[in-house]
Amino acid sequence: MSGQLSGLGTDKVVLVTAGASGIGRCIAQAFLGQQCRVHICDIDSDAITDFQGANPAATVSRADISKPADVTRMYDELNAQYGQLDILVNNAGIAGPTAGVEDIDIAQWDQTISVDLNGTFYCTRLAVPFLKRRGGSIINMASSVVFGGFPLRSPYTAAKWAINGLTKTWAMELGPSGVRVNALCPGSVNGERIQRVIDNAARERGVSSERIRRLYARQSSMRLFVEPEDIANMALFLASDQGRTISGQAIGIDGYTESLSDMVPDE
Ligand code: NAD
Repeated sequence: MSGQLSGLGTDKVVLVTAGASGIGRCIAQAFLGQQCRVHICDIDSDAITDFQGANPAATVSRADISKPADVTRMYDELNAQYGQLDILVNNAGIAGPTAGVEDIDIAQWDQTISVDLNGTFYCTRLAVPFLKRRGGSIINMASSVVFGGFPLRSPYTAAKWAINGLTKTWAMELGPSGVRVNALCPGSVNGERIQRVIDNAARERGVSSERIRRLYARQSSMRLFVEPEDIANMALFLASDQGRTISGQAIGIDGYTESLSDMVPDE
């Protein structure tokens, strides 16, 4: 988004989880472009090094958000650096397994819930005391799966529906303190991760990746894949003064998902 948005700028500190690559990196760079002070965390040291090289103004923590001790250390580092937090972007989330419910390994279920749901909770509980001091904004990364079911992706769907519920609950809890909470619900976003998901789905069903890509595009009314910049622009809007009355919402950034049911095998 070009131009300075009111309510953003140098007095705002932003934390983006899993910000070293993918959508999180794009969001972090968008806030840097608004002159905000940005801290990211990520589990991947190489990705962090790459991010730092490209974004020397940002600060970083190496943290696995599914580990409470890592999250506590990340907030200690953020507090030592800035002493404040205004905008939390709970971006971190893994895709989890692509398999029928009867074939999902319990360890894979636990890992997906642990990163996508528990990690979001760990990061939020330590952010709230900061956010309550000055008012602020929490942006949770959900998915267009919260508008329906998603065959072969049970743990991911469970975690994202839970995030939708937490978004509304936290909006009600924190609204009186001037903290807004919203969920972003992207459809298929162009990038490495969606290609991995497509390849897994193709393998699981014994069809070509191209066919799955066409199926995914067809799920959107506008027959499109979303770009990371589309997500980043919505995050900026929600965190800025323009979004000052918007809270508790699950916002589709997906060209309107008509249905995910065409993902069932033997279309
Ligand atoms: P990605 O797979 O590209 O990963 C981005 C970053 O997450 C990587 O740098 C990785 O190292 C980091 N990461 C992974 N596990 C972590 C952990 N435990 N702690 C800290 N960092 C960790 O993901 P993405 O496509 O950029 O997706 C970002 C968010 O958007 C996720 O919550 C995802 O569910 C959501 N989303 C993505 C899509 C899509 O099509 N890509 C669609 C809807 C929603």
